[in-house]
Amino acid sequence: MTALLHLTHLIGGEARAGDAASAPPVHDPATGTAFATCPAGSASDVDAAVRAAQAAFPAWSSLPNETRARWLNQLADALEARIDDFAQAESRDGGKPLKLAREIEIPRAAQNLRFFAAAATQFASESHHGQAGLNYTLRAPLGVVGCISPWNLPLYLFTWKIAPALATGNCVVAKPSEITPVTAWMLGELTRDIGFPPGVLNIVHGLGPVVGKALVEHPGIKAVSFTGSTAVGRQIAAHCGPALKKTSLELGGKNATVVFADAFADPSRRERLLDTVVRAAFQNSGQICLCGSRILIERSVYADFRDAFLARVHALRAGDPFDPATRLGPLVSRAHFDKVLACIALARSEGGHVLCGGDALQPEGRCADGWFIAPTVIEGLGPECRSNTEEIFGPVVTLQAFDDDAHALALANATPYGLSASVWTQRLDRAHRIAAGLHCGIVWINTWLLRDLRTPFGGVGQSGMGREGGMEAMRFFTEPKNICIQLD
Ligand code: NAD
Repeated sequence: MTALLHLTHLIGGEARAGDAASAPPVHDPATGTAFATCPAGSASDVDAAVRAAQAAFPAWSSLPNETRARWLNQLADALEARIDDFAQAESRDGGKPLKLAREIEIPRAAQNLRFFAAAATQFASESHHGQAGLNYTLRAPLGVVGCISPWNLPLYLFTWKIAPALATGNCVVAKPSEITPVTAWMLGELTRDIGFPPGVLNIVHGLGPVVGKALVEHPGIKAVSFTGSTAVGRQIAAHCGPALKKTSLELGGKNATVVFADAFADPSRRERLLDTVVRAAFQNSGQICLCGSRILIERSVYADFRDAFLARVHALRAGDPFDPATRLGPLVSRAHFDKVLACIALARSEGGHVLCGGDALQPEGRCADGWFIAPTVIEGLGPECRSNTEEIFGPVVTLQAFDDDAHALALANATPYGLSASVWTQRLDRAHRIAAGLHCGIVWINTWLLRDLRTPFGGVGQSGMGREGGMEAMRFFTEPKNICIQLD
């Protein structure tokens, strides 16, 4: 048996060990075995990290934007030089197919760093010249900010937050998920390797209710950027509201994929439609906030769509994430595996008819004890039931039929969430009308998860508050100050 890997905090440019006795184990979900320990951070670790960040802030925030951009690009270079190691670590930590980590998620983490490095060099002050004099707006960094990220896209979302925070001149105390802490730790080690200015990026590991809570509530933290569950987002808002702390909350989703008959009828487009709807349903075993877990199909093509969709789902290969043929890995943890199986049981008790999957899977070989669930498709459930209104966050989708545009919109909007939707139609007028009527922050037409990093990213309702991405993130991490000069 190989020795456990012991991760460390990054505070003031130094690796600091946590209390080994209470460190939570980090599991490989494909095998169910522990392979690392995550330091159990405390409120005093958070305080030390905030102080280190405060000490680093005057110098970091005074650097020319181009110099900060150079540091971010240097970190991206170092990450790309070790892309295979990072992809392996991400795959083992979260159980995602290695191919997904290597081809999409880790490259995107490097791209996040480069994108915001470039943004730093383009972020300009606005000015207005008119009867009310000459006005210009300065944008200053906030100071020390807290970035809290989840387990489903660990390094991808970690860098999505820290990159704009650092690019705009803030210093950061970041807390990755205790379930998947390895690549954030590795990135922290890279900053030490390249001599990144100490204290600018600090990483404190540990449990959410301990380290995350201490970070949110620390008086030295000027803003909190959080991605995670709606329940925790609410707790953060409950503290940050009265404290008047700036917050960005990217929370859960229950996204609709809306398939109109005209899109499915065209044989030249059907294959791409089906492949994309399957990917939207099951990528990362459905553990992406943007996954389309409610598939709405126009009634005239419902049966044909269902049969073609099911044939593709049956062909999805679940198993060892290191096998290049694998499309679905395990669920991220034993607790999450149990939760998703309980959701499937609930769907059955609500009258849902399981068309495929519905059970745990036991792959042969080294993954026999992993936390796998077969891709699951359920029909026969109405829009109000819990299976169609609550986030499951696993390889589970429901199918519902609709009759016309108004019915499609009513079903799509019948959840308290509002993150994203994808709409499949060849009719331009319908695409625009449905997109305008959907209650959510992101709409894809005839595609899914196609991302231009300049666009606003975020949701409405229970999916959160605020937007990330492009200049939205640059604005979130800065405070505008207007200066007005009378010219006559
Ligand atoms: P989670 O809310 O349990 O944890 C997210 C992070 O918050 C972790 O680092 C955790 O340690 C920390 N945390 C937990 N309790 C805390 C507290 N009391 N105070 C401060 N921090 C605390 O979420 P998760 O299970 O890691 O992630 C899955 C959820 O994230 C899903 O609901 C998913 O939809 C959502 N998500 C949303 C987006 C988006 O962009 N909208 C993206 C990815 C994931």
